[in-house]
Amino acid sequence: MSPDPIIEMQDVGKWFGSYQALRGIDLRVARGERVVVCGPSGSGKSTLIRCINRLEEHQQGRIVVDGIELTADLKNIEAIRREVGMVFQHFNLFPHLTVLENLTLGPIWVLKQPPAEAQATAMRFLERVRIPDQAHKYPGQLSGGQQQRVAIARSLCMSPKIILFDEPTSALDPEMVKEVLDVMTTLADTGITMLCVTHEMGFARQVANRVIFMDQGQIVEQAAPEEFFSHPRHERTRLFLSQIL
Ligand code: ADP
Ligand code: MG
Repeated sequence: MSPDPIIEMQDVGKWFGSYQALRGIDLRVARGERVVVCGPSGSGKSTLIRCINRLEEHQQGRIVVDGIELTADLKNIEAIRREVGMVFQHFNLFPHLTVLENLTLGPIWVLKQPPAEAQATAMRFLERVRIPDQAHKYPGQLSGGQQQRVAIARSLCMSPKIILFDEPTSALDPEMVKEVLDVMTTLADTGITMLCVTHEMGFARQVANRVIFMDQGQIVEQAAPEEFFSHPRHERTRLFLSQIL
């Protein structure tokens, strides 16, 4: 494990009311590492990654992202959100803005980039996700796969150090899954740190340095993909893999 993790979680606990969604999470992610998180529905995967950019607040333990501790201090939260991009299952694009406007909003208003520069960067990322021709359309005019690629491009326009993906392909029709996974795979080559909740085990094998299995709010098992898929150690992991593979 790297001596200089970009994400460090120590004994993190998270409750919704009296329900404990995360239990004693210890996780260190190295710079440039690509981690896939899997596990049954309700096991805490979304809660885990949402705690990393403070979309959810943890009540126990410590979370440090790129040297900044997540506390109630708004300055820290803002600083971390600038470094951490997020891609959601349901894209979360602004429906009343064009694709290009979706991509330039953050850079112009948050990063204070001049509009022309923000647009040039946006077009570069639209080319990277292979839909530069859709720049002037509205999200509702695009397929789900295209919308998700816009969401990835939008995230990249903010120059994040880390991207969190929360089941980015699970709302897509099957024929669109591959185009999104292909974009995520090319992203992996850029050295950006990726934490990805997904059940796409082909992607995990090909791209992940490490696969984490969660159940009932805990990290039950983690290993390099070869090891994880060929020698799952826990019964719960075996059961899960037998259901999805
Ligand atoms: P996963 O992403 O693995 O399906 P989640 O992290 O979404 O799981 O949820 C973990 C548990 O926390 C589930 O039991 C879920 O019902 C509960 N939970 C998640 N979000 C909330 C919330 N906002 N309020 C109450 N309970 C929640
Ligand atoms: Mg989830």
